[in-house]
Amino acid sequence: MTTIDTLIDAETIAKRVEEMGKQISQDYAGQEVVIVPVLKGSFMFAADLVRHISIPCRMDFLGLRSYEGETSTGVVQITSDLTRAIEGEHVIVVEDIVDTGLTMEYLFENLATRKPKSVKLASLLHKPARTTVDIEIDYLGFTIEDVFVIGYGLDYDQLYRNLPYLGVVRSED
Ligand code: 5GP
Repeated sequence: MTTIDTLIDAETIAKRVEEMGKQISQDYAGQEVVIVPVLKGSFMFAADLVRHISIPCRMDFLGLRSYEGETSTGVVQITSDLTRAIEGEHVIVVEDIVDTGLTMEYLFENLATRKPKSVKLASLLHKPARTTVDIEIDYLGFTIEDVFVIGYGLDYDQLYRNLPYLGVVRSED
């Protein structure tokens, strides 16, 4: 049998995401930004976050694949690229979770070659226990223990993304 323990409930997530959106709006007051959610895991976080961003923002999406199941492949692949140039733009990458940091290291190096005015990172979660590359997270939702989380956009073998809260799968016989 599979049981899901709640790690962070929907109400707590909503409150924190609202704060993050307001902070971004304040920090970029008077400017425009390009919000770049990294698919698929950040779709729910990004959708909630932008509802609390009050400055003009465009959205473009990036598909990255870095994991199969629970095991890091160590290989990052762009499965779907941005549709517009970001040269001279303020970019905010929206990610679900920074774990080893390898995915964001790859992405930030890649985006830098496109000459944006600035690139910042908003990540819902950070798992510092597994960090191998130090990544600066400009807007962070929650720091969590070394557990495999699902829900609120995050999957386990493509399942559970639809859960409105963050949970941990507990397998029992
Ligand atoms: P990193 O390159 O930082 O190790 O991994 C980042 C990516 O790994 C995340 O965008 C996410 O897709 C996946 N990932 C890392 N930890 C977890 C986790 O606890 N749960 C889920 N569902 N995905 C994770």
